[in-house]
Order: sequence, then C-alpha cells, then structure tokens
Amino acid sequence: MFDGTAESSKNNNPFAKYSGYMLLIIIICVPWIITLQSENSDLKDELEVANETIAEMDEEIFNLQEQNSAWEVNVDELRKELEESEDLNTRMLSENYDLWEQCNFFDQYAGIVTVSGEKYHTYNCYHWQTGSDFWIYNIDAAEANGYEPCLDCH
Ligand SMILES: [Zn+2]
Repeated sequence: MFDGTAESSKNNNPFAKYSGYMLLIIIICVPWIITLQSENSDLKDELEVANETIAEMDEEIFNLQEQNSAWEVNVDELRKELEESEDLNTRMLSENYDLWEQCNFFDQYAGIVTVSGEKYHTYNCYHWQTGSDFWIYNIDAAEANGYEPCLDCH
C-alpha cells in the first residue's frame, strides 16, 4: 500500500514523468546554445569588420570621385590648350610657307658677291660670311658685271 501510494503520487505529477527527458534535452541544448551564441558573436565581429571596410571603401570612392572631377577639369584645360596650339601651329605653318617662298625667290633671283670674289652666291653659301663686305645684284646684273654662278650653291 505504501509503495502503491508512492507510485500513484509519482504518476500524478506529469513533470516527474518527463523530468529525465527534459534534463537530457537541457544537457544537449546548453552546449548548443553556447555554441550558437559564440557563432553569433563571431558573426557580429565579422559584420563590424565588413561595415568598417564598407566605410573605408565609401571614403575611397568619394576621394576617387573628387580626383576624377579634378582630372576632368584638367582634361578640359588641356583640350583647350591643344586647340590653341593647333591654331598657332596652323598659323606658323602658313607663315613658314610664306617665308620659304621669299627665300626661294631671293635664292632664284638675287646673287651675293664679295668685294674680291668672281662668283655670285645664295644667302646660305659658305663662300661668303655676313660679316664681310658684299654686294647684292639680281642674277642678270651680276652676270652683266662679269660674275659667274658659284658651283657649290647654284
Ligand atoms: Zn656659293
């Protein structure tokens, strides 16, 4: 009768019946929960590092955009300078051609003679120097005065 009463009181308590299972579940779950918390903490650290990296990259993007803007201004200025240089180059080519025509004209129609020489020369001939005394005739007049063409420059 004593044992029967004990048995019936045990059976009446529903928690007592499953307490062994619950204890087992708790024993299994506690390390699992600790592991989960640890993993959660690791993930939080990783998230923090990732957020820092994102902030650094945002700053870098901002800096690069500013640099890019500065370069765009620089490119515009250089393009303008290039256009001006091309205009100048075109003008100088034209002037150069005019001067070339003038030089060609003088080489063709003018003869430079030295005071003691017997030949007539072009401006660039090495047989006379600008420091020495000279006369300039047109070719016909030089030949009429007895001068002959220099073989090195004519
Ligand atoms: Zn000559």
